[in-house]
Amino acid sequence: MAIQRTFSIIKPDATRRNLTGAINAKFEAAGLRIVAQKRIKLTREQAGTFYAVHKERPFYDELCDFMASAPIVVQVLEGEDAIARNREVMGATNPAEAEEGTIRKEFALSIGENSVHGSDGEDTAREEIAYFFSGLELVG
Ligand code: ATP
Ligand code: MG
Repeated sequence: MAIQRTFSIIKPDATRRNLTGAINAKFEAAGLRIVAQKRIKLTREQAGTFYAVHKERPFYDELCDFMASAPIVVQVLEGEDAIARNREVMGATNPAEAEEGTIRKEFALSIGENSVHGSDGEDTAREEIAYFFSGLELVG
């Protein structure tokens, strides 16, 4: 499998509880290198744009309010098969269904406040990285 890049967010429930370092340790232990990272705070509108794919879902408003409620850490992770590898390390969307040892099993509070986001495919990874980072910020 080739070296890939994926986009990751450490969500507000995790930044509030000072879990950035603990979550990054999980990525690094899984062989994912953090090649770009910054702490930002989304506006409600930016959160809505990012999750626009879910705008017909009943949880959309709650999700956007949550994502704009506190700072987030946006990141680019690089490694062998990074998109799938990151999804494995994250665990299932609902922490009650997540495997032992995954980020969501250990840290997520609920299906909504689930500590991390990760791109779900090559196209979304490329688009999400380009939305948050310039080429100059991707130092490898
Ligand atoms: P993400 O896109 O954040 O990496 P995911 O791909 O595991 O998560 P999606 O189905 O894309 O899950 O849902 C996006 C986000 O919307 C979830 O991570 C979660 O924060 C929120 N969400 C999903 N389902 C629900 C739900 N039933 N109730 C509340 N929030 C939800
Ligand atoms: Mg998703």
